[in-house]
Amino acid sequence: MGDLIYQGRPVRFNNTIKMVEPPPGIEGEGFFMTKLNDVVGLGRKNSLWPLPFATSCCGIEFMATMASHYDLARFGSERVGFSPRQCDLLMVMGTIAKKMGPVLRQVYLQMAEPRWVIAVGACASSGGIFDTYSVLQGIDQVIPVDVYVPGCPPRPEAILDGFMRVQELVENESVRRRNSPQYKALLGEYGIQ
Ligand code: SF4
Repeated sequence: MGDLIYQGRPVRFNNTIKMVEPPPGIEGEGFFMTKLNDVVGLGRKNSLWPLPFATSCCGIEFMATMASHYDLARFGSERVGFSPRQCDLLMVMGTIAKKMGPVLRQVYLQMAEPRWVIAVGACASSGGIFDTYSVLQGIDQVIPVDVYVPGCPPRPEAILDGFMRVQELVENESVRRRNSPQYKALLGEYGIQ
């Protein structure tokens, strides 16, 4: 903490807060030039809005991840939304029954591009211990997944690690990727236009 004098009064401020690094570029007096891709990536990376799709125990770990000790807000993601149209990161946590598959897919389809998906825990990633007729053996059977977080349940640290891996993908993603033939082919595999 340090002291700053403002209008004759001491103001205490926290000078240990780490600011994000600017992307590489060329700078001079009064200007800074960089790539559009890097600026967009930086902005998106630090303002992901998660949509928690929590059906069972892994959801409790997510609650801990959001709470003050682990504090997902440090990554610019405190704004958890429950409307798919306002979110860009779908976090699927818990056992997904086959009956729930179409619902999950519908939520995914309602999210605007660009959107990312994390499968949190063994159940969302692979069905986990529930190798039964009624449980979806991994959400990637119905929607594309960007990052899988292992564990049953994964600790909040693991969820944060998965989140940071999504941030890496977001930061380095080309602004053109969503219009690329490869991405369209990926969605086509899931029957999504
Ligand atoms: S992975 Fe384990 S902790 Fe998570 S929802 Fe499945 S059974 Fe529960």
